[in-house]
Amino acid sequence: MTTYKLLLLPGDGIGPEVMAEVEKVVGWLGKAGLATFETETDLVGGAAIDTHGTPLSDATLAKADAADAILLGAVGGPKWAGVDYELRPEAGLLRLRKDLGLFANLRPAICYPALAEASALKPELVEGLDIMIVRELTGGVYFGEPKAITTLEDGSKRAVDTQVYTTAEIERIAHVAFDLARKRSGRVASAEKNNVMKTGVLWKEVVTRIHREHHSDIALEHVLADNCAMQLVRRPKQFDVLVMDNLFGDVLSDIAAMLTGSLGMLPSASLGAVDAKGTRKALYEPVHGSAPDIAGKGFANPIAMIGSLAMCLRYSFGLGDAADRIEAAITRTLASGARTRDIAKAGDAAISTAEMGDAIVREL
Ligand code: ATP
Ligand code: MG
Repeated sequence: MTTYKLLLLPGDGIGPEVMAEVEKVVGWLGKAGLATFETETDLVGGAAIDTHGTPLSDATLAKADAADAILLGAVGGPKWAGVDYELRPEAGLLRLRKDLGLFANLRPAICYPALAEASALKPELVEGLDIMIVRELTGGVYFGEPKAITTLEDGSKRAVDTQVYTTAEIERIAHVAFDLARKRSGRVASAEKNNVMKTGVLWKEVVTRIHREHHSDIALEHVLADNCAMQLVRRPKQFDVLVMDNLFGDVLSDIAAMLTGSLGMLPSASLGAVDAKGTRKALYEPVHGSAPDIAGKGFANPIAMIGSLAMCLRYSFGLGDAADRIEAAITRTLASGARTRDIAKAGDAAISTAEMGDAIVREL
């Protein structure tokens, strides 16, 4: 059996607490004979600042580069709020994404049956919801130049951000979306604003061509991003895979997250390009942050982190069956009534992070 090299970067706040639960599931995978891992743990974010004076050391980056996949907890917290912009905990994560070329961010929004009533929408609108937002992660307006704030002659200021996309950047994210759709329901919706943005015109043009040339078996729909926001709230189950740029993906994936009930439930994957050996760099992390308000208290929900391991098995190692088993165990654990505080109804009893991890391993 192949042994996979996993780098664990627990990070800050609740990161180490939820990572401890993932390690239990990693242990189970080995005992069940489904996969064996060589794991190594290292520092990132505020924890790395405290020890090394930098949120991502070169040594950690080298380990990340050599690993088959990376699992990350969360970075940041009030303790490091005052540090230099370039040295803040989040800069470590940005460098990791950028240096490893993780251009495709996959954010599933799954509504577990037992949690439909916790959604921002009526339960019938979200029961069975299972959509996948594919967000371009290394281009667009967050990175384009010029990017500046200048002071004008009258003392007022002018700020500029620039959205840039190239054919190649759009092609590779489009391929990711179509390939994913083929393993799901075979539908892709591409969101942009070609009515007011040149990058939107190019986006639509390139996605249309890639579809025609390589993926005509998939159903493709173009949707304006503002309409997409409305449709996500009005009738979210009409979508399967959604593909969009960095900015729209940032905003629309947060909307999708709220449809599912809790931030503590949602995993994510960030993938790089497929290389000559057929492998790709990949980082898996919960959608939620370090949650400083509940860190150290032992009641964080570990499901987003455990779901991130399931995505890792599916997308990095081709272990879809093992991933399905973990996701099914989460579903059964929730159906049995187990709730951490964030997903418990007001007044109902809640269990700890460790108890939720144990309950999922028991179901496994
Ligand atoms: P970031 O800037 O890192 O995204 P944030 O401030 O946007 O962080 P989170 O750290 O994700 O947000 O926390 C938002 C809220 O959700 C907090 O009240 C936090 O306690 C809660 N929360 C986040 N993750 C979890 C979790 N795994 N379990 C329980 N509650 C959580
Ligand atoms: Mg946030």
